Amino acid sequence: MKPVDSEKTDAQKQIEQINKRRKRIQRFKYSLLSILVILLLFPNIVSIYLLIQNYQLQKQIDGIYSFVTEESEIEETENITYLSDADKEEFNELQIAELKYSIPDNEVYPGKQCVYLTFDDGPSKYTDEILDILAEYDVKATFFVLAKEGYEEEYKRIAQQGHTLALHSYSHKYSTIYATPEAFRDDVTMISDFIYDITGERSKFYRFPGGSSNSLVKFDKEELFKILREQELLYIDWNVASQDAGSVKLLPEKIKQNVLDGVKGRNSAVVLMHDASDKYTTVEALPLILDELKKDDNCVVLPITEGTQLTQHVVSAYQ
Ligand code: ZN
Repeated sequence: MKPVDSEKTDAQKQIEQINKRRKRIQRFKYSLLSILVILLLFPNIVSIYLLIQNYQLQKQIDGIYSFVTEESEIEETENITYLSDADKEEFNELQIAELKYSIPDNEVYPGKQCVYLTFDDGPSKYTDEILDILAEYDVKATFFVLAKEGYEEEYKRIAQQGHTLALHSYSHKYSTIYATPEAFRDDVTMISDFIYDITGERSKFYRFPGGSSNSLVKFDKEELFKILREQELLYIDWNVASQDAGSVKLLPEKIKQNVLDGVKGRNSAVVLMHDASDKYTTVEALPLILDELKKDDNCVVLPITEGTQLTQHVVSAYQ
């Protein structure tokens, strides 16, 4: 019995060994195959990842370029960034003109830091909320508005509540507004009349779409300045950018920080923000900004008036 058993066991052992070898070979094959598959897939995964990254970056670049081209709602971030080197030099030379009218704010508030919050591109669905916040903090601001149907109450409310209702063009379409001096005159006249018809008052202040230092005007800018003088409009740019107009939406905290950093150390700070349907984080940032400004006894928040130092990126030779 024993020898038979041991023979059987030997045979079984041999079979088992063969099976084990087979399994090992199979496992080896699978491992090899897996490595091969990974090696083949890896470059594809990396390519897809890079493609997505590239697409996102391209979108950001497109957003920035749309600022320079035309007809975009996105505009006026820190337009200085997008100027040519020659324009930058011009900007540095001219910097900011500080002209005085009536009783200057810095004489009304001696030794104080004057901060002017300005909202471009409104009215929008957020105008009422912005006005509510300003009322809550008991401060007045400046709204550089466009012509929009269906917002009559908002235009009126801005004016009635003591804010400065200022002009920012009728259409905001760069290609139309800056096509010729005549086109610019037409646009300014249209927005001025539009506001007058609603509020019964002529606006005294204007902000160029893209700012006075925009590189979209292909003729002598003095033509534009002359037209504004004819219409008794003073133009104002900004010296603090909240940077809320870029294609990348900023969080309220970031907008607040941009404003506070920009305001720091300026006797007269004109802050650029936007009142637009895709700018809710600006509305959220507003109480955070006002909390900080109100904490500072040395700081007053004011609307733009004739007493405001005119912050201008490009200054008319004839002013
Ligand atoms: Zn604008």
